Amino acid sequence: MTRITHMLGGVIIGGLFCKYGIIIGAIAGGLPDIDIKLFGEGKDWNWHLFKHRGITHTLLFALCLTVVSYFILLHFHYGEIFALIIFLALLSHIILDTLNFQEEKPFYPLKTEICFKIIKVGTIQEYLFIALPLFLILIEIIITKYKYYI
Ligand SMILES: [Zn+2]
Repeated sequence: MTRITHMLGGVIIGGLFCKYGIIIGAIAGGLPDIDIKLFGEGKDWNWHLFKHRGITHTLLFALCLTVVSYFILLHFHYGEIFALIIFLALLSHIILDTLNFQEEKPFYPLKTEICFKIIKVGTIQEYLFIALPLFLILIEIIITKYKYYI
């Protein structure tokens, strides 16, 4: 999925908890795709983990990042909630990416590959059937939970 779709997923999760969670969710929702910046598209890497949809798209990464963020945020108000939002937003990223046509191994070190091959990245189908419904859910959360009327 594209960055906007992942961020929408994270924003919704964060928005369900608190308004500051929206920012945390947006960042965490898009974070796993940092592997593109770190490793490129993975052409020069033979090891799966350092390719796009490698280590940053695993439950292991999500758990490690959640534990680290938990201890960092522990002393802040809502710190535990923020750590939970980070985990759920990372999880939403992994789940959304399984809808695409590129395999990922979310249960690493298990070799189980998941790829549902439903929607191609950046196509009108993604925006129409994934991003738009997520956006409408976000609008609903903003209106009902935060009483902002657009
Ligand atoms: Zn991704």
